[in-house]
Amino acid sequence: MEHKTVRDYIRTIPDFPHAGIMFRDVTTLFADARGMRLCIDQLLAPFAGLHIDAVAGLEARGFILGGAVAHQLGTGFVPIRKKGKLPGPTFAQDYVLEYGQATVEIHQDALAPGARVLLVDDLLATGGTAKAGIALLERLGCEVIGCAFVVDLPELGGQAALSELGVPIHTLCAFD
Ligand code: IMP
Repeated sequence: MEHKTVRDYIRTIPDFPHAGIMFRDVTTLFADARGMRLCIDQLLAPFAGLHIDAVAGLEARGFILGGAVAHQLGTGFVPIRKKGKLPGPTFAQDYVLEYGQATVEIHQDALAPGARVLLVDDLLATGGTAKAGIALLERLGCEVIGCAFVVDLPELGGQAALSELGVPIHTLCAFD
C-alpha cells in the first residue's frame, strides 16, 4: 500500500470562513500520529545540522507545530500572538489582511539579540503574517535562519513577498 504524503492528510473545507474560500484544514494532519510525525520531520529536514537557538510560532496553528519542532530540536519556543494576548511588555507589528489590518506581538524579552530563530506556521498565503513575524524577531535583534510552513498557496504570492527579505522558505506541499 502506498504511504500517504503530508498533503494527503490535509482536508479542504469549502466556503470557510467566507463563501468562495477553500480552507485548508491541517487539524486532520495533526490528529493522525503518522501524519504529525511526518510533518514535523519534513519541516525540519532542510535545517538539519544548522545551529538553531529557538523556534518561534505564529498564532495559533504555528504554536502546535512550533512546540513539536522545538521539542525535536531541543530548543525553547516563543509565541508570536495576536494583539492583546501576551501579558508582559511587547513589541507590535501591524500588517495588511485581505480586508483590513491586524497586529501581532512578541514579548520584548523573549529572545536575546543574536539568537538564531526558525519561524513556523501552518500555511503561507500572501506572506503578510510571516513578514510581520520576521519583523518582530528582527526587532529583537534575532537572526531568522528560515521559515517553515506545511502548506503554500503559490497563487497568493507569499514566497515572492518573503524572498525579498532573504530568509530561506521551506514548504511541504502546495494547493491551488
Ligand atoms: P498570509 O498572511 O496571507 O500569508 O496568511 C497566512 C495566515 O493565515 C496563517 O497564519 C494561516 O494560519 C492563515 N490561513 C490563511 N488561509 C488559511 C487556510 O486555508 N487554512 C489555514 N490557515 C489559513
